[in-house]
Amino acid sequence: MKACILSVGTELLMGSILNTNTKYLSEKLNEYGIAVLYHVSVGDNPERVKAIFDYYLDKVDVIIATGGLGPTQDDLTKEVISEAMGCELIRNDAIYEKIEGFFTSTGRVMTANNAKQALVPDCGMALENDMGTAPGIYIGKNDKHVFLLPGPPREMTHLFELHVGPMIAKLQSQIISSKYIKVFGMGESAVEDRLLHLINGQVNPTIATYAKRGEIEVRVTASGKSLEETEKLLAPVVAEIQEDFGEAIYSIEGGTLAEIVGNMLIEKGVTLSLAESCTGGLLAGTLTSISGISSVLHAGFVTYSNEAKVAMLGVSEETLKQHGAVSEETALEMIQGLKSRTDSDVAVSITGIAGPGGGTAEKPVGLVYIGIAYFDSYEVHKFNFTGDRERVRDYTVLNALNLIRKKML
Ligand code: AMP
Ligand code: MG
Repeated sequence: MKACILSVGTELLMGSILNTNTKYLSEKLNEYGIAVLYHVSVGDNPERVKAIFDYYLDKVDVIIATGGLGPTQDDLTKEVISEAMGCELIRNDAIYEKIEGFFTSTGRVMTANNAKQALVPDCGMALENDMGTAPGIYIGKNDKHVFLLPGPPREMTHLFELHVGPMIAKLQSQIISSKYIKVFGMGESAVEDRLLHLINGQVNPTIATYAKRGEIEVRVTASGKSLEETEKLLAPVVAEIQEDFGEAIYSIEGGTLAEIVGNMLIEKGVTLSLAESCTGGLLAGTLTSISGISSVLHAGFVTYSNEAKVAMLGVSEETLKQHGAVSEETALEMIQGLKSRTDSDVAVSITGIAGPGGGTAEKPVGLVYIGIAYFDSYEVHKFNFTGDRERVRDYTVLNALNLIRKKML
């Protein structure tokens, strides 16, 4: 089945809000094995909504429209689309009473325009909404399935989960399922290059690569009549990719690098302390977003100044004078200091130049040293990142996480 997602709302075209509904619905429809062929946004204008709706109804089996179901004048989706489908709007007493009850219970006065939310097309049905006053609408006619959902994301997702998803599952005989293989430390083109023999001539499963900040995701998608069938199609391809990329793969079941590393530490009971300079606690902050990390994360020092590196970690003034704060020697003394001041199994230090200022020919912006003491082994890794301050800091955190991960394999 093919689908179009139609977003109604002038605020979308003005750039006032981000179209998160479309992202959510696309993700969901794909999970149900429905090919989303079009995303369209249109303002609160009846002629244009009708024209766009007619145009796409011809091309797909399912249209999900969001927005424009509210009580005000500019909310016209239901009126326009039910007319386009050749239906009449009639008042649904049960819904009317529910809206009335909502106003009474909140001590507010129900104005006349609220009554239009109780109108339901005679060829369709209302999808009950427990999160707001506007119900969703379903119209099924001539093998076309049209869903109208309210704009507020909380109500839209609620209605999707409660009604639309289960209804679509019944309409659909094919399912699609995907594996998301996450690769770290390679560029997208390099990943794709190594997958070319699989990508060329792919039919089922299909393979695609996506570059996200610092990681490459390889999506392998199969379609079939059952999960069993899709799993069978996916397994050999996933195994081949795993074989090929080895340790560069950090996840095939989803999860961020931080989650993977945090959970590895927790599972193995390996304790950790951190000393951060240019990332100012970003690594600690990233790790502390993982629940349960308190059982293994001991301490995180933010030692931004030279004085702090000396006072809190015992870095020698001599080292700082001779080699500078951003140096292999300082990164090493930072982990030595951490190890002697905490009894953590793992100590990680970060010192670098995030930019945009502070770089020199010898020590350019993006130069970062990451020290890692893993039980009795001490190492310092040198990186030259590119990009702005935010990117340098993000990549530093990701690479620190990856160093910890590799040590634990
Ligand atoms: P409406 O049902 O058109 O009155 O929309 C009500 C509110 O829902 C809007 O003011 C937005 O805040 C939100 N909204 C509408 N459409 C979208 C969308 N496509 N993505 C995210 N939020 C939306
Ligand atoms: Mg609107």
